[in-house]
Amino acid sequence: MGGIAFDGGWILSLAVYIGVNLVVFWVAMVIWAYRDMRARSRDTLAQLFVALLVAILTIPGLFIYILLRPRETLSEAYERSLEEEALLQEIEEKPTCPGCGQRIHDNWQACAYCHTRLKKPCYHCGELLDLSWNLCPHCATDQTRYEPEDHVVASSRHIARSEPPPQFDDKWFAQQNPSNQPEYIDDEF
Ligand SMILES: [Zn+2]
Ligand SMILES: [Zn+2]
Repeated sequence: MGGIAFDGGWILSLAVYIGVNLVVFWVAMVIWAYRDMRARSRDTLAQLFVALLVAILTIPGLFIYILLRPRETLSEAYERSLEEEALLQEIEEKPTCPGCGQRIHDNWQACAYCHTRLKKPCYHCGELLDLSWNLCPHCATDQTRYEPEDHVVASSRHIARSEPPPQFDDKWFAQQNPSNQPEYIDDEF
């Protein structure tokens, strides 16, 4: 029974086993290259050429393909184009001053460069509104009621030099500092 290991049948089985493995590996290589090229190019001819290249040249053909294949897959290229488009849109949508064209921020009341009036604060909640809005979208307060006092600002694109804000008037100051006046009266010779 010891001689069986060296007879022709055993060697043939080994050869068939190795051969089948090589064929399966070769087919898998061709399929992989074909699929990989399909992910990178819509050109049917190029896809078939790559499959043929790998089928004929086997492992060296696969190396040549990997060295020369398109860098990006179609989905990667698509994603990159979407990102570029989004970036471009973001740049284009950055608001600019209608007066001087400089970049402005959403929360600016006026352009810092040319003093053009950009927005007005809601007189009730203080949120910034477009100059043309008559109703505050944040608190639903009618802005036209405020028209007479805000007339200069509303009718002009430029900010007028205004008086100090109302909370700094004399009445407020006296309320906050009731002791100020008596102290000065005591100070006499
Ligand atoms: Zn400006
Ligand atoms: Zn409001």
